Amino acid sequence: MNQKTSILCLIASFFMAVAVPGADLATGTSVFGSRQFIEYIPGSLPIVIASPHGGSERPEDIPDRIHGVTDMDANTQELAKTLGKVILAETGQHAHLILCRLHRIKVDANRRLLDAVEGNADAEKAWHEHHGFIEQACQQSVAKHGFAFLIDLHGHGHPDPRVELGYLHDAIDLADCAEAHDESTYVQRSSLRWVVEQRGIRHSDLLYGSRSLGALLELAGFPCTPSQMKPVPSHPFFRGGYTLTRHCRAEENITGLQIEANRPRLRDTAENRLKFAIALTKSLRTYFKINLGFELAETQGSPAILPTFHISE
Ligand SMILES: [Zn+2]
Repeated sequence: MNQKTSILCLIASFFMAVAVPGADLATGTSVFGSRQFIEYIPGSLPIVIASPHGGSERPEDIPDRIHGVTDMDANTQELAKTLGKVILAETGQHAHLILCRLHRIKVDANRRLLDAVEGNADAEKAWHEHHGFIEQACQQSVAKHGFAFLIDLHGHGHPDPRVELGYLHDAIDLADCAEAHDESTYVQRSSLRWVVEQRGIRHSDLLYGSRSLGALLELAGFPCTPSQMKPVPSHPFFRGGYTLTRHCRAEENITGLQIEANRPRLRDTAENRLKFAIALTKSLRTYFKINLGFELAETQGSPAILPTFHISE
């Protein structure tokens, strides 16, 4: 191969790796946005997992953000990947995964554009691609299954070491009574609105009843809020952010939540990330069955596959 041919091959391989949101993609095979800042692994399940704050890349040509929060959510990208692998091992199918590989000091993919980037075109492009891939994943899930379930995955460092489940209600909202939570004014603002309206399940039951994700995760050994054990979160509490507000739209058959994982026992080591991912997958299987009427099928012999995740994520 002469030098000209090898340069052409290099250019071709670069462009093959870059995908634009909206393109037809192969399940389980990573594609990347411009400069590989956003990675999208397309799935076939109606589960869309986004990791906006776990990226570590800090290219020098993109200036650091000065305003707002710039700390990354450590190990949440690794946790998202482990969750994707456990779901694959347990069900035989991929969830959709969207990973922002840029550090939060360069772009905050869980903020509106005005606050997310500070005047850099490449960071702005990455922000658009992140949300474009989420949109594409949700649309494909809706086309295939009739709905999409979005999990925006984060990590918090709050004093109360519980998993915080954000449905777009803050702690003051959640301190209200169950009757209020079941009123349409609350439901309209909830990321679970589609489940309430399409599945006929009481909103309060989905927030902190026995069928809530919080209750199911607690049964699997991970304290949560809101949940049966702690229906009203302590301050501070993350209610869910821009991504949830933008994408969880009942009229488009999209529902979901923001999951904020505390660090100890959940995301501090590869072994703990695996344990949490297994518990979350088990909880999601029950949640999907009883609340969404959807069976996340079990793969025969899956426990034998799981220990291999200790090696790499
Ligand atoms: Zn975060």
